[in-house]
Amino acid sequence: MAFVDEITIHVKAGRGGDGVVRWRHEKGRAKAGAGGGNGGRGGNVVLKAVSDLSVLATYRQIKEFSAENGAPGENWSRHGKDGDDMVVKIPVGSIITNIANGDVYTLEKPDEEIIMATGGRGGLGNEHFKASTNTTPQECTPGKEGEEFDLQIELELVADVGLVGLPNAGKSSLLNALTRANAKVGNYQFTTLEPNLGDLYGVIIADIPGLIEGASEGKGLGHKFLKHVKRTKMIAHLVGADNEKVLEVYNTVRKELEVYDTELAAKEEVIVLSKIDMVSPEEIEVKKKLLATTGRKVFTLSTLDDDSLKEFKDTLTKLVRKDK
Ligand code: GDP
Ligand code: MG
Repeated sequence: MAFVDEITIHVKAGRGGDGVVRWRHEKGRAKAGAGGGNGGRGGNVVLKAVSDLSVLATYRQIKEFSAENGAPGENWSRHGKDGDDMVVKIPVGSIITNIANGDVYTLEKPDEEIIMATGGRGGLGNEHFKASTNTTPQECTPGKEGEEFDLQIELELVADVGLVGLPNAGKSSLLNALTRANAKVGNYQFTTLEPNLGDLYGVIIADIPGLIEGASEGKGLGHKFLKHVKRTKMIAHLVGADNEKVLEVYNTVRKELEVYDTELAAKEEVIVLSKIDMVSPEEIEVKKKLLATTGRKVFTLSTLDDDSLKEFKDTLTKLVRKDK
């Protein structure tokens, strides 16, 4: 599933450096020749796809991304230094629209880059205008402006694994337990709603409050916010071991899931019998067997017991490593 938010940024490529008028004073020559160099090229604004969640924090404050200007030409026909590119990192899968002309771009793979705004060409120094008929041209040209425009970016954050279950199943607790040592997206304020996302060694896990909770009253996550589920690899369906009838609880959530989003419902699913510290070992076994009748793999764990999380953790990391 993907969490989507829209932002607008301004990008400005560097201006080209000006060409200059300079003179070469060479020994043994009466007259100095033209020796003004060309200006350097302005830097480009480059967009680069990354899969690191922390990139989102960038956009909280920074809305303007400018590349460096080219330096003016120098004497002895030396070119000015080219401006450095400005590299703007965006999450993989984001959709970028040039507001000025409506062009749309997407970056599908990590490290993929596109030049969005091209830097201006450097101006020409007087050396360039030298000819046999005129060895002392006074002419030079200014550098060109770099491209500059607004981009609308639909930030797309793809979660590999979605946690679903009734309220109180332990989704938020499990997300915290699995990913506490890693980057959280909590420092990026989505304008629509703050999803709970965590990063477990590169596996993005989403706790989906509101998918089931209140979905039938229209209070669930809007479709604008939660869409493109194609890339999500797995649903982990939590059922609290403290429930009397675990299979009924499981089926209730499955039904809601199918109503809410058929594509999401069709994903590979594993079942997590959560909060197992609340019941006896015998009861765990009975409930695990009941849930296994669905044909799904069943994990049993408690967020209060780190050892019990290990098998689930391993499964998640393997799942993603498989296709990276
Ligand atoms: P969510 O609504 O599915 O996100 O559930 P929460 O993670 O908010 O958990 C609901 C309640 O169950 C909270 O009071 C948690 O402290 C508690 N809880 C979560 N996991 C466990 C667990 O493994 N064992 C016990 N005993 N309590 C848990
Ligand atoms: Mg929660």
